[in-house]
Amino acid sequence: MKKSTVLLIYTGGTIGMIKDSETGVLRAFDFDHLYDQIPELSRLEATLKAISMDPVDSSDMTPKKWQEIARIIEENYEAFDGFVVLHGSDTMAYTASALSFMLQGLKKPVILTGSQLPIGTIRTDGKENLITAIEIASEKDDAGASIIQEVAIYFEYSLYRGNRTTKVSANAFEAFKSPNYPDLAVAGVQIQYNYGAHFTSTSNQLRVYYGMNEQVALIKIFPGFSPNVYTGMFDTTAVKGIVLETFGSGNAPKNGEFIVLLKKYIEDGGIVFNVTQCFSGEVVQGKYANSTFFNEIGVVSGRDLTTEAAITKLMFVLSNFESREDIEYYLSHSMAGEMSI
Ligand code: ASP
Repeated sequence: MKKSTVLLIYTGGTIGMIKDSETGVLRAFDFDHLYDQIPELSRLEATLKAISMDPVDSSDMTPKKWQEIARIIEENYEAFDGFVVLHGSDTMAYTASALSFMLQGLKKPVILTGSQLPIGTIRTDGKENLITAIEIASEKDDAGASIIQEVAIYFEYSLYRGNRTTKVSANAFEAFKSPNYPDLAVAGVQIQYNYGAHFTSTSNQLRVYYGMNEQVALIKIFPGFSPNVYTGMFDTTAVKGIVLETFGSGNAPKNGEFIVLLKKYIEDGGIVFNVTQCFSGEVVQGKYANSTFFNEIGVVSGRDLTTEAAITKLMFVLSNFESREDIEYYLSHSMAGEMSI
């Protein structure tokens, strides 16, 4: 069988960082350094090519950089069987979520990976993560179709749907979880694929949507929350959509001032998207009296979306659809397997 071809896209992150000899601070380094540290790469079954972006700590990721990654994938889509994006773990779940919306009609794997320890350190988790991510990105079935046809994150022996994933630990090697959706694969002696959980697009044609509206905000509710601190955010000329992180199954204080602010913002054309602060489970507006008013004033339920998927989906939908009806429809329906409906 012909060797698969995989394109590595290096964006930065701990995996490729080195310690500054004077300050001891970790900073992004160029791709050749990474390549030199893993001689095994030349022994893999896949044919590899690498493209390096200007490497950054993923705290510096922006929608512009997501667009750059999407453009590299679009321009190389026909020439490669799969893509591995090396990325810092801090915002990897945001990038994976954003790419899952931008890359519609994907029929090839886009696997994001990184590490908790730099590749140059003896106990690095980066080698295994990178080598297995490449293996997954190159795997095809007997008919020649890619086994994974979506944006995924591979980290510490698990492959997750990218837009279902969240970073859960700053120091454990198992840095990610997918609380509301099963793993797409688990890597042991063999890679066990959970075929029933995989996403397949109904379209065979890759279409890349670059638009991301950055006029969005995120508000996390807490006991003692003072709505007047946030009044500047409820201005539709500056903020087109707000993700509201609420309690439990979508509840918030029955605070008159807050409800008036939300209602006016929605009447002025703003979108409010409700997700839960809980690690797992979903928003069910109207289950409790403390969420019934959300239905009455037109807050959109984000059901079981992660915050990362909610923010990036809001950016995407606000940029790519115009009417309120379309915006609400697409926010409430799965576009890339990100929500259970
Ligand atoms: N600060 C790093 C980053 O996200 C952490 C990591 O790579 O794991 O770029």
